[in-house]
Amino acid sequence: QKFVYFFGEGKAEGDAKMKELLGGKGANLAEMTNLGIPVPPGFTISTEVCAAYYENKQKYPEGLEKEVLDNLTKLEKVMGKKLGDPEDPLLVSVRSGAAVSMPGMMDTILNLGMNDKAVVGLANKTGNPRFAWDAYRRFIQMYGDIVMGIPHDEFEEALAAMKKAKKVELDTGLDAKDLENLVVEYKKIYKKHTKKDFPQNPLDQLWGAINAVFGSWMNERAIKYRELNNIKGLKGTAVNVQSMVFGNFGDDSGTGVCFSRDPSTGKNEFYGEFLMNAQGEDVVAGIRTPEKIATLAKKNKKVYEQLLDIKDKLENHFRDMQDMEFTVQQGVLYILQTRNGKRAGAAAVKIAVDMVAEGLIDKETAIKRVTPEHLDQLLHPMIDPKALKGIKPLTKGLNASPGAACGRIVFTAKDAEEWAERGEKVLLVRKDTSPEDIGGMVVSEGILTSTGGMTSHAAVVARGMGTPCVAGAKGVSVQGKKVVIGEKTFKEGDWITIDGSTGDVYEGQFPLISPKMSKDLETFLSWCDKVCADSVRGNVKGFLVRTNADQPEDAKRAFDFGAQGVGLCRTEHMFFDKEKLIHFRTMIVADTEEARKEALKKILPLQKKDFFGIFKAMEGRPVTIRLLDPPLHEFVPHTKEEVAELAEHLGVKPKDLQPKIDKLHEANPMLGHRGCRLAVTYPEIYDMQVEAIVLAAIDCVKKNIPVKPEIMIPIVCDEQELALLRPRAEAIIKKNLEKAKVKLDIQIGTMIEVPRAALLADKIAAFADFFSFGTNDLTQMTFAFSRDDVGSFMPAYEKLGLLDVDPFKSVDEEGVGMLMNWATTKGRSVKSDLKVGICGEQGGDPATIDFCFRTGLNYVSCSPFRVPIARLTAAQAVL
Ligand code: ADP
Ligand code: MG
Ligand code: MG
Repeated sequence: QKFVYFFGEGKAEGDAKMKELLGGKGANLAEMTNLGIPVPPGFTISTEVCAAYYENKQKYPEGLEKEVLDNLTKLEKVMGKKLGDPEDPLLVSVRSGAAVSMPGMMDTILNLGMNDKAVVGLANKTGNPRFAWDAYRRFIQMYGDIVMGIPHDEFEEALAAMKKAKKVELDTGLDAKDLENLVVEYKKIYKKHTKKDFPQNPLDQLWGAINAVFGSWMNERAIKYRELNNIKGLKGTAVNVQSMVFGNFGDDSGTGVCFSRDPSTGKNEFYGEFLMNAQGEDVVAGIRTPEKIATLAKKNKKVYEQLLDIKDKLENHFRDMQDMEFTVQQGVLYILQTRNGKRAGAAAVKIAVDMVAEGLIDKETAIKRVTPEHLDQLLHPMIDPKALKGIKPLTKGLNASPGAACGRIVFTAKDAEEWAERGEKVLLVRKDTSPEDIGGMVVSEGILTSTGGMTSHAAVVARGMGTPCVAGAKGVSVQGKKVVIGEKTFKEGDWITIDGSTGDVYEGQFPLISPKMSKDLETFLSWCDKVCADSVRGNVKGFLVRTNADQPEDAKRAFDFGAQGVGLCRTEHMFFDKEKLIHFRTMIVADTEEARKEALKKILPLQKKDFFGIFKAMEGRPVTIRLLDPPLHEFVPHTKEEVAELAEHLGVKPKDLQPKIDKLHEANPMLGHRGCRLAVTYPEIYDMQVEAIVLAAIDCVKKNIPVKPEIMIPIVCDEQELALLRPRAEAIIKKNLEKAKVKLDIQIGTMIEVPRAALLADKIAAFADFFSFGTNDLTQMTFAFSRDDVGSFMPAYEKLGLLDVDPFKSVDEEGVGMLMNWATTKGRSVKSDLKVGICGEQGGDPATIDFCFRTGLNYVSCSPFRVPIARLTAAQAVL
């Protein structure tokens, strides 16, 4: 078995396809080497070694040591230098890198091979003693921190003390002698913590670093990152040992990060940042504020143009936006990393659309590249422009991650977590962030930092999470538990609002609104719709996205977001309306059918009005209206005042009314008098609703508004219920249509939400034009988990791993899904063209949408704001 893969001199043993084995970084270093791009030579120890290391009690597999040493010898030969050589030492970096990029989560050590003799050799050989000592002190710091776990603050303090003593502001102000003295200080710190001298043998250093990188695979923050990002099934990290190039060699050297397109907006513009005379992490750490990439053209035109060439070459090669790390040593350019860049939602859509137009990718690839999270971000709130009129921001920083957020100021990740736990909305305000802060960043509404650029930790992580972020705001200065923003001082708990799309920071709270769809997004989603419309599964053509909308405004919004119809219109809110509730209550306590009809008459016009509004909003797309569903119990007057009010309305004494009300009490309303059972006892209710639907539809027809109503009967458990209710509804429809001389086809279907109905779906299908899975109740009844009470035990289930996912978020494929599958098959065995959809809360969830596609459903239905995401995930399910 081969453990180690060499790259260098235009040839590599690996390539880009070997990400799983070499990690993303290693595979792409190999690929770039093969492409002839200037990459410092090195070798990659495979992820399989990491897996074996953890399987075998942190021992390496047989033969690894020799293979590493052989590759080191090869590297030394290529470089013409030896590790730790006292005259002309080779220095290397030891870099982590898993198959999936986890920025900043694992460890990297630079300048390895440095020791007391090598530093002198390097100083003499390069004629640059300042550089040599700087490299040595950085190495002690990184090695101490990463390999030995010494708090890096202690090194930082020693550095700060030295700068203070020398009265300089920047690291670059220290000279060789200062740095040499600093090395002495650093070694003391090292010894204090480890009780040992700093290791001088480069091979000891190398193995220490390799151990640390493999060790970092299982460190807390890496584990948490994988958890948060749902990264599973990786073998481990690879370790890249690579010869060093030096951005800290002097003023003709530098280091930077760049993107082939703007990762925030997606514009096809070269984008990036760099620092002269700096090494590696300096840019990302946000210690000094970096310069825009365009200014590199002024400093070194040749390098800049070479970089432009390379970014084009890499983007064309990988056919995706590239995120690259580079270093310039004495005017010579090296590329240290490339990967497909993470991007904000707007950028993801724009890049996908642009690359199709440029002929770089096809539409299918474009659809696969945009994630539900990207769209989620795009549909993120922004500050209501009306509320902003005449208001000046306190200050402006970089628009690091789009979307607006309001929250109360907290200054540490820990505080953020504690406050959020109590239900507070928090906004994390910091000088900068680091990987330890990840927990607090996740729970924050937004993030504001005073230092760092677009590629700082805060910016990268926030973009990844879709959390609004303003970074590097110079007008922000954090001082303990206070912060000055612009001219004003704020303390913990004060409200501020940030706009991550513009970089503005405001005092106080603002109303947030959802943005409109951009042209690019519409183009993109129209491709998704096409894929969905064209899909064929057996008899079923198309896979559509509908919406759950109870009111005309919701329907309108959903229509604008591209909903192909209404999958569920609940009608109960029309009964709960303050004015109408009294009539409904009158109805349920009435003794005669006449009295009941009289009371319901008052509700009919309101229902009709809403139905008309929804039909109109949907412009002839199907609208499924569910007849009254909730338990009668919910309408029964409970308080003394409510009973008194009803008694007064009826002209009776409260004490005479009370016994009737008591009789309506139910021990378990969710399994009680609800859904079609209401119509079995009080048929007038559904009669009235059906009439309202037909009348609204007739109005539409008369006004030339296309209309397609569908009536849905809930909580059915037996076909006899439908056998009873359907003809009644048909008669009302017929009567009203004839009276109005209007021809219209109104389908009558049922919800499948009681397990027995799913089991007997073939019998039920005989009486239903369509099925819609009510997965909230179906889940509740299949699991016997009360939807309203899961909060008391579900967290424990999740923690213990008893359930993979919350079945109310994502349909439980194994159990509930089995019922859905059965019901669909059985139903279609009777009616081959039976239309089947889903209208439960899970209908907007990507995994559920995928399952619904595989199960042969005609459509999914979700809340209006989820519609664009559902259109995307529906297309991804098809592809
Ligand atoms: P991460 O995965 O956290 O980005 P990297 O392994 O990419 O870590 O290393 C971080 C930075 O260290 C790089 O961006 C680069 O600037 C610097 N670096 C790594 N290896 C070398 C090297 N061989 N020569 C010069 N700089 C390096
Ligand atoms: Mg990197
Ligand atoms: Mg239900």
